Amino acid sequence: MKIVSVRTHLLEHKLDVAFESASMRFDRRAHVLVEIECDDGTVGWGECLGPARPNAAVVATYSNWLIGENPLETEKIWARLYNALRDQGQRGLAVTALSGIDIALWDIKGKYFGVPVSTLLGGRFRESVKAYATGSFKRDGVDRIEDNAAEVARYKDQGFHASKIKIGFDVEEDLAVIRAVRDAVGSGMRLMVDANHGYDAIEAIRFGQAAAEFGIDWFEEPVVPEQLAAYREVRARQPIPVAGGETWHTRWGMREPVETRAVDILQPDLAGVGGFTEAKRVADLAALHGIRVVPHVWGTAVHVAAALQFMAAMVPSPVRTNPVEPILEFDRTHNPFRQVIVKTPIEHERGVVQIPDGPGLGIEINRDALAEFRMGDI
Ligand SMILES: [Mg+2]
Repeated sequence: MKIVSVRTHLLEHKLDVAFESASMRFDRRAHVLVEIECDDGTVGWGECLGPARPNAAVVATYSNWLIGENPLETEKIWARLYNALRDQGQRGLAVTALSGIDIALWDIKGKYFGVPVSTLLGGRFRESVKAYATGSFKRDGVDRIEDNAAEVARYKDQGFHASKIKIGFDVEEDLAVIRAVRDAVGSGMRLMVDANHGYDAIEAIRFGQAAAEFGIDWFEEPVVPEQLAAYREVRARQPIPVAGGETWHTRWGMREPVETRAVDILQPDLAGVGGFTEAKRVADLAALHGIRVVPHVWGTAVHVAAALQFMAAMVPSPVRTNPVEPILEFDRTHNPFRQVIVKTPIEHERGVVQIPDGPGLGIEINRDALAEFRMGDI
């Protein structure tokens, strides 16, 4: 079996209503898929986290080392590609592009053996996961406090047990948002907050000290990801568990945050950390240090499917009868191609998502939708 082609698919949709996190404004959704084809006709799909065109350019560079290779040799290919750009790579686009390729190779491997990726990773500990609703961004033209409270109340009505709220804009306004959301949904719903590294350490500590009374499960990306000492300070000086990791790549990028306990919860992204090959190593590293793993997810159904396969194979604590189960980050913002690019959309039922059990990622791509949302030329 040999790889004969590597292609990328750039997808884009302009949003009617723009929204913002503390670090980014979204007036469109854009994502890039990786398609790898083999000489026997098998096709595998992957996705890269981050800017679509630059990721596609790096995937195209890597393709020079992929054509003619055996796609089943995922570890060998990972090492080869990582080494190819290592001197100027090590993190960022060099790794997000590699992640999309690695996910596609595992999809191929699953299809070759006729089993889901989760089985190849060691086995399915679960067939479904609870999802938490990611949303509550700052939207143009509406009152943020009322808007976020109504939005999370809707998620509760839909059956979600948990939801994550975007903060990091202004400490006092952010606290007013959290208060309004908690008032709207009552005490039973789990709430998380995500500052998208919008605060400095002083703001993050002030927010965390004041927000703890609202019962917050975790405080995600309180400060910029380069400042691990600031992460540790936030963790030490306010009571909410600290989460982070969506921008830390590979086992080397995760090592210091894990070993120095900069976070309570590590959030590797399958499409960013280095694909399945590297995410497994990162999960083992976190387990070694007793740090909980909750994968970060932001993208299309390919990304969601990869996260689900990985979560199916996450090893529960062996000493507990009611182990802490992984929960799926389920983006609820408007994104017309998130679901339609697959023939059977990945949906939730009262906040629970079934993990596909077909070969590979367990999804089938809808090529008509890829054509419909194809990104225009610059
Ligand atoms: Mg986040």
